[in-house]
Amino acid sequence: MTVKMTTGEKMMGKMMMGDQTKWLRALVGMGFVFAAMLCSPAAAADRAKPNIVFIFADDLTCQAVSAYGEQRRLLVTPNMDRIGREGMRFDRCLVTNSICGPSRATLLTGKYSHRNGFYNNSNSRFDGGQRTFPKLLQQAGYSTAIFGKWHLGSDPTGFDHWHILPGQGLYYNPPMIKNGVGVQHSGYTTDIITDLSIEWLKNRDKSKPFLLMSQHKGPHREWAPAVRHLGWDKDRKYPEPETLFDDFAGRSKAVRDHDMGLDRTFSELDAKLRPSPNMTEEQLQGWNAYYEPRNAAFRKAKLTGQELIRWRYNRYMHDYLACVKALDENVGRLLETLEQEGLAENTVVVCSSDQGFFLGEHGWFDKRWIFEESLRSPLLIRWPGVTKPGSVNNQIVSHLDFAETFLDIAGVPVPAEMQGRSLVPLCRGETPADWRKSLYYHYYEFPEPHRVRPHYGVITDRFKLVHYYKPDVNDWELLDRQKDPLEVKNYYSDPSYASTVKELHAELERQRQEVGETGDPPRAAHGDLLFEGEAAPEKGPEKGPGKRNEKRR
Ligand code: CA
Repeated sequence: MTVKMTTGEKMMGKMMMGDQTKWLRALVGMGFVFAAMLCSPAAAADRAKPNIVFIFADDLTCQAVSAYGEQRRLLVTPNMDRIGREGMRFDRCLVTNSICGPSRATLLTGKYSHRNGFYNNSNSRFDGGQRTFPKLLQQAGYSTAIFGKWHLGSDPTGFDHWHILPGQGLYYNPPMIKNGVGVQHSGYTTDIITDLSIEWLKNRDKSKPFLLMSQHKGPHREWAPAVRHLGWDKDRKYPEPETLFDDFAGRSKAVRDHDMGLDRTFSELDAKLRPSPNMTEEQLQGWNAYYEPRNAAFRKAKLTGQELIRWRYNRYMHDYLACVKALDENVGRLLETLEQEGLAENTVVVCSSDQGFFLGEHGWFDKRWIFEESLRSPLLIRWPGVTKPGSVNNQIVSHLDFAETFLDIAGVPVPAEMQGRSLVPLCRGETPADWRKSLYYHYYEFPEPHRVRPHYGVITDRFKLVHYYKPDVNDWELLDRQKDPLEVKNYYSDPSYASTVKELHAELERQRQEVGETGDPPRAAHGDLLFEGEAAPEKGPEKGPGKRNEKRR
């Protein structure tokens, strides 16, 4: 296979190309280093390849992680913050397709959706025959394990041990699949995933370096808290985002005509007007003791309009943030275990999420959009001796880069087909002069479940140029985060932005060429919708042009 050079190989290459004096000096230097390694009691540990612990949440957004210091101060997350304090916080880690399965497929393969074939949650199935970073680490002698949320349809490949939730999984007493065999668990899922991760860590093959992927269901919708956290916020009235009542004036129909608003989409389960499924009698008792009196008061109040939205927003914040609270406690347990096992020094801890999430901004929950709240995900990396404690990186980085980063950390060659770039130099505090200045984005799934129209665009430090192109829209938007950080204005037709629009169109075209997505995406990319004017598939005569297909779930 063709490979990209790892950072170490590049450094060696530079040394090889230097003059003889430099080369000799380097050799003498290396000799000293080698001698020092032989003499040092920590020599074995220094030479060992770093272990990797990847803590991956589902729908965790920066607004809910106190390391990111968001204005509303919604929650304090001491354990996630600790990773940032002892390591590096990435402030602009962006996804390339803001939805669960596609983001996970990109993470594993280092490739865009159109290259790894996983476009949407509706009908995509991950081709596990592809090259992924766990597979390559496994081949390089790493012990590999994954626990928790997988959500890619096919069985995991590249893992010595896997123990996953089927599909979305349940918050309480989840059935799971352990290396292909169904098993039943009791308790709260976020705790269980950590218990399993810790148990594996303690009993791992200690002769090998390891990759542990601890992947949580929380805080995914329906945001069901652990019973121990019910009422944690003492009925706080949460500060509202400025755009809670966004009227979308001057915006594309694609933005206005959504189905993910606190005003219209919030279900009884979302509102906890009925309990989360699959609880035991005891769990249900604790649950009802908290929710029932509050729900009775809500029903009696018969709220409408903005008051109803406000009630929903506060209920949503209690539940979502309680799920993050449980996650944070469990991050703490995992960090403690690393210390107890003597692993803290030689283990890279990476904490992130498959995308961001709206916490009431634009009146929304959920994700999908190119807008900042759902585009951006937390990324905290602690790599003792490499990441400077408390450092912050502002470059545009992406989930597209994770696979290459993990391979680079392990000194494993990176396949040329991967489309990201290793973050290892950034972790060292060195930003390469040619680091990306823009990122290509493409979201496909439509119409269900939230009627977010397919869109693609290019993102820079300041601007976003977006095209909503199907099925009943053909609109361009220009967002200017510097002038309009809330992203409520479209500057596309503003004459003073004419040259910016022109430059961004050129950059978008350059990006599309570079990532290899120049034609129309296949119909299957858009869920089950048949777009106007598209040919009906060969079988299924009922699916005429312009008709929407039956949803497949
Ligand atoms: Ca997700």
